[in-house]
Amino acid sequence: MPAPRWDAIVVGAGPSGTVAADRLAAFGHRVLLLDAGPRLPRSASRITDVDRRAWPFSTVGLPFDWYRVRAVGGRAHLWGGWAYRFPRRSLERAGWPCGRVALDPLYDQLEARLRVTEGTVDERYREVGRRLGLSVLPKRAALGRRGPVWRPPEEPVVRRARASRVAVRFEHERGRAAALRAVSLESGRDLPLRARAYVLAASPIETARILLASDLGPRARGVGRNLVDHMVASYVLIEPAPVPSPHGRGRFPGAALVESFVNLDEATARPYRGGFSIELTGPESLEEVNLERMVPGDELHGHRATQIHALGELFPHRRRFVDLDPERRDLVGAAAPRLHLAWTRAEERLAKDLRTACTQLADALAIPGSRLIPVVDPLQPGAGHEAGTCAMGPPEVAPCDGRGRLRALDNVWIADAAALPTAGDRHPTLTLLAHALRAADDAARHLAGGHGGI
Ligand SMILES: Cc1cc2nc3c(=O)[nH]c(=O)nc-3n(C[C@H](O)[C@H](O)[C@H](O)COP(=O)(O)OP(=O)(O)OC[C@H]3O[C@@H](n4cnc5c(N)ncnc54)[C@H](O)[C@@H]3O)c2cc1C
Repeated sequence: MPAPRWDAIVVGAGPSGTVAADRLAAFGHRVLLLDAGPRLPRSASRITDVDRRAWPFSTVGLPFDWYRVRAVGGRAHLWGGWAYRFPRRSLERAGWPCGRVALDPLYDQLEARLRVTEGTVDERYREVGRRLGLSVLPKRAALGRRGPVWRPPEEPVVRRARASRVAVRFEHERGRAAALRAVSLESGRDLPLRARAYVLAASPIETARILLASDLGPRARGVGRNLVDHMVASYVLIEPAPVPSPHGRGRFPGAALVESFVNLDEATARPYRGGFSIELTGPESLEEVNLERMVPGDELHGHRATQIHALGELFPHRRRFVDLDPERRDLVGAAAPRLHLAWTRAEERLAKDLRTACTQLADALAIPGSRLIPVVDPLQPGAGHEAGTCAMGPPEVAPCDGRGRLRALDNVWIADAAALPTAGDRHPTLTLLAHALRAADDAARHLAGGHGGI
């Protein structure tokens, strides 16, 4: 067998694949980064949904709003750039294999690279926080080098990526991946791609699908289990007044994070694990907030809108998982993913708390004559932050070790949120990217012949 052409193949050129590929290349490794989607022109302003007939999935139990982007850059084409570190207590509660001591240097590097910038808290939010006894933090967001928000296609490693290559499954022998089968959407050819190491960053449902299609046997026990996401409650507060002018000072004046809803200790504990945070955005002109036909046209003028958006942490349970649908195949003939979904009683209580907390905040902010419009109900699954389908943890229960290395194939790492135990209680991407760096560092050590894993 000739030596592989690549040291590492990274699957998926979204945020996590970009960061992992760049890190491996920085160590001097020959890296192939591939993505199932096309390379979009710079001018593409709107990302439409994937072609659901070409890339189907099915659900059992509940419907699921799967926000997918099949294009170089992934869901970073949609993201809002909110960028927070997970607090120590969130990592401990979710059973992370490492704490802030290990993550902080990586957070530092990422914040510099993504130009994470902190805003100022609007006096209106500060005052409501004081009144309700809530901790209100400024927005932190990733600005990137070229635009209002960081996007992977800005990165040199992504300019060299191969687009329109769909990873389908691994060929493997004796606990090692021998090749990755990938189909070119341009030529239709199904090629075995060989490397010394492989990094999956295709996003949690797709990464689980690739592994399940690879027939890994009992050592892959746990792959596809433990699907988690955020629970989302979203409201818009409409007030009969114009946007104040000048509106706040500094960066992101109309945005803040309220983080007090986290279960802190016995005294503040709520009847579920985890907790939630709430993001506030606004007030902005009602015309700028996309409410589709939810507000009558004559109300659009002279009114302002504040968005209230809660993200609740979900924990794994047995009734929420991914497997392969025996009935459905996608454009390249691979079995489609099937999502099994259910809420637990504790999650229903979390949903109630999300609604109550958002409503109380809205009441405290509202001027007379305002109204609150519910936009997303918390019991509508699918927040775009899926995680956990190939989680890190102890060998008896988890498919990955503490740095995202797959136990069933010892030259495969999981760099996307499949490896995260949960999506946390706030936006996850900065932490996801810290994990992608850890996984890439471990893969690089393995490639250099050093000792990998913990
Ligand atoms: C509307 C929206 C707003 C968001 N806002 C924020 C925010 O403000 N802050 C935050 O922290 N997070 C936010 N997120 C979440 C953030 O976008 C994700 O955490 C992040 O994009 C995940 O990066 P990823 O690279 O792991 O996955 P993705 O971004 O999903 O990228 C996966 C890539 O893999 C490719 N791929 C898929 N299947 C295959 C295959 N078989 N073979 C090859 N390639 C494949 C896809 O084309 C895609 O490019 C938001 C998400 C959404 C949907």
